[in-house]
This record gives sequence, structure tokens and C-alpha cells, in this order.
Amino acid sequence: MGHLIPVLELGKRLVTHHDIAVTIFVVATDAATTKSLLKSCPTANFSIVPLPAVDVSHHVDPSDHIVTKLLVMMRHSIPSLRSAISAMADPPTALIVDIFGTSTFPVADELGMLKYAFDTTTAWFLATTVYGSSAEDEVARHVNSRTPLVVPGCKPVRFEDTLDAYEAMGDRVFDEFQRVGVELATADGILVNTWEEMEGKTLEALRNRKALKDVVRAPVYPVGPLVRPSPPLKTNEPNDVVEWLDGQPDRSVIYVSFGSGGTLPRAQLAELAWGLELSGQRFVWVVRPPPVEDGDVSEESGSQGPHRYLPEGFLSRTHDRGLVVPMWAPQAEILAHPAVGGFLSHCGWNSTLESLTNGVPMVVWPLYAEQKLNAALLAEELQVAVRPGYNNGGVVKREEIEEMVRRVMVAKEEEGKAMRERVMELKESGERALSRKLKGSSYSALAQVARELELNHQRVVA
Ligand code: UDP
Repeated sequence: MGHLIPVLELGKRLVTHHDIAVTIFVVATDAATTKSLLKSCPTANFSIVPLPAVDVSHHVDPSDHIVTKLLVMMRHSIPSLRSAISAMADPPTALIVDIFGTSTFPVADELGMLKYAFDTTTAWFLATTVYGSSAEDEVARHVNSRTPLVVPGCKPVRFEDTLDAYEAMGDRVFDEFQRVGVELATADGILVNTWEEMEGKTLEALRNRKALKDVVRAPVYPVGPLVRPSPPLKTNEPNDVVEWLDGQPDRSVIYVSFGSGGTLPRAQLAELAWGLELSGQRFVWVVRPPPVEDGDVSEESGSQGPHRYLPEGFLSRTHDRGLVVPMWAPQAEILAHPAVGGFLSHCGWNSTLESLTNGVPMVVWPLYAEQKLNAALLAEELQVAVRPGYNNGGVVKREEIEEMVRRVMVAKEEEGKAMRERVMELKESGERALSRKLKGSSYSALAQVARELELNHQRVVA
């Protein structure tokens, strides 16, 4: 979901703002949430073509990292992608791939198409990934001696915040991930779901020959913040969470969610419940059962019984000010609701952008992938979030959770007020960046890509 959502938003913008015909190829999935997302797309000049699901069970080990599985799956989808593109009546002249799809670039070369990558997260992640793939010795030093990885022109990456793939140095996922960095560097251009005011310094490094230009040769286009628009409140399907929020005071509720797949160990779930309860704040909490190996609760019981893995009495003690939602909630609508004043999040990049574009400050609780980088950007550089102290993967205690929730939610205190002001500035700068009327920086960057696509199209047709 975290990749599909921004890819669809990018496609919609190319169609509606820049008059480009777009076909999105999606490797088939049965997930209900994905299917409903795909249905919500425009039709004119915009089509979605499912590619057949691929069985990679003979090519990966069940214990392989999810990134390895995705990359292998994409590699095995190359033949069906090639056939699907070749079968198009009006052959496309550019291929834009999500970062898991860089292995398909040779198809673009074969078919005379321009090739772009779309980094659905930050410029900092992009700079780190491409630089890291060209400086393996430095990555090794970073990992082995637990010292910062210095990416020229960028905020250094602390070992504690490093990418999952670097922590797994020596495993297959590390080599697979390094290959993505190498392939990314061969793109004709790289689009990033960020904007100038969000990551000006890193974007500057990506443009600067002395800093990173020798490794990231392709032009980098910040085109964000691309987020799924929340349907106007009240016109949407009735929903229990939104109805509950309607009865709460403005900015009084903290929304707690760990993305489309994040789970917490049983002991951590209990501490989080206690922390929320002790904070005295209103909350909406999307809960999932702890991982199976962690206790006796199976995945299927998730939608039935949060009481089975939350502390005894928690639900009844908090029922007048808290709502516990099993498994999934309409997040875009929730974050756009005036009653929501904070977001405790795993800081996946979509969740982050949905929060910032609604002016909601965050408690950031990174779980996997590049999320620790996101947390450092949000809490330290932009100061729109608070995060737990480093504790070597241990359980974050209830007192710390209580304190973080209060720091974000109690805006009367100086820190909460300042955080809210900064988040509002970011929200406004994001709107300006995307504005067609103001010819904002992200609108203009995508217009530049659209011009290149158009020129290539004319060249190919001629
Ligand atoms: N999401 C949602 N309801 C949920 C959990 C997640 O609508 O209960 C959506 C969320 O709004 C976001 C996406 O799923 O758009 C999650 O993407 P993100 O990049 O934040 O994290 P990921 O799931 O990829 O880790």
C-alpha cells in the first residue's frame, strides 16, 4: 500500500495536470484494500493493467527479507511486463518504476523508452541508497564500527537510524538492496515524493556535482507531497470511527496506527495501552494482534478480540475517551478530521505525509525499512515530532509513552505549540509546492518531466 498509493497519485497528476496518458501495471493481488484502491481511479487516459501473480517460492527462502521477496517477484514479472507493453496499441514512450522495479529498466532500453524511478519516500533515503551502493567499504565501516554513514552534503546517518538492509549486511537482502542503488543511478530521472521546503539541503546535495552528482547522475525531481486525498468529510460512506470523532472536541484525539502491516510484540502492546491510559488523552487506536511467534494469539483472532491481547480492563476503563479499532481504519479521513490533534505512527512515508498535509504533529515510532531515517528527519531536523529514546530494540515503557503523547497533544505547553506552528508551515509549503496556479516547485518539477516525455514521444513518432 505504501508504494501503490503514491504511484497511483503520481499517475493521476500526470493525467490531470499534464495531459499525459498513463497505464499503471500492478502485479496482481487479492488484498481487498488494494482492490478498492484500484477502483477509485480516474478512467480517461488512465488505465490499470494487472500483471499475473508470480510464484517465486523456488527462488526465495521463506525466511528471506520482504524486500528480497519483492525484488525477486519484480524480476520474475519482467517477461509479462515486456509482453504487456509490446501489446499496447499506442506504445508508451517512457517507463516510470517504483524503486522495487528498477530491474525492469532493460525493458525500457529494449523498447526505446525513457526510464525513470519514483522514490516514494525521502530524498535522504535516495541519497543514502545510491551513495551506499557506490561506497560499500564505508557502509561496512558504518555497520561494523557503529559510526555514522556520512553521505556528502546530507545529514549523516547514525547507526541507530540506519536502513534495515544495512543492518542485514552479509544477508541476501543487502546484496539485493545494493543492486537497487546501482540500477537507480542508471535512470534518466528520479522522482521523489518530497518537496523543496521539506528536504532542501538533501535535494541540493543531489544536484551538486561535488557532493553527490557523481553518483546520482540523473536529475532528481521533487514532486511531492503526493498523498491520497481524503474524501470531503460527511460526503463519504458512514463510518463508526468518523462518527465517534464527530463527537470529540477539536484537536483532542491522538490517532495511533502502525501502517498497513506493522505489529508490536505483546509486552509492547501492553505498555502502549498503559501509556495511552496514563496520558489521559482521547485516542483512536488501530490495533493488530502481536506476531504469532510472540504469543498464543493467532492472526485470525485480530478482528475479533483486542481484549485478548490488551491489558485486562483497559477497554472498559478507557471506553469513554478511547476507541480501539481492530486491524484497519480509514486513515486519510481520520487525519483530516478536526478532532485529531496528534498521530502516533510508525512513520511510513505515506502516513507521515498524510499527517503533515493535515497539520498534525506526530509521535514517531519507527518499525522497519527506512522508517528510522524518517523519524530522525521529523523529530530532529524538522522538529514536528517526538520520538522514544534509543533503547536497543527494548520495550518502550509506559511512562515514556505517556510523556510523548502529552508533549504532542498538550499544545498549551511551549514545545507542543512550537511543533504545531512548524507543522502548519510545512502543510502550507506542501500546498504551495503542488499548486498549479502558483507554479509551485513540485508542480514545475513534474511539468519538466512531462515535457521530456512529450519530446521523447514526438521523437519516437517522427
Ligand atoms: N492505512 C489505512 N488504514 C490503516 C492503516 C494504513 O488507510 O488502518 C493506509 C495509510 O493511510 C497509508 C498506507 O495505508 O496511506 C500505509 O502506508 P505507509 O507508507 O504509511 O506505511 P506502510 O504500510 O507502507 O508501512
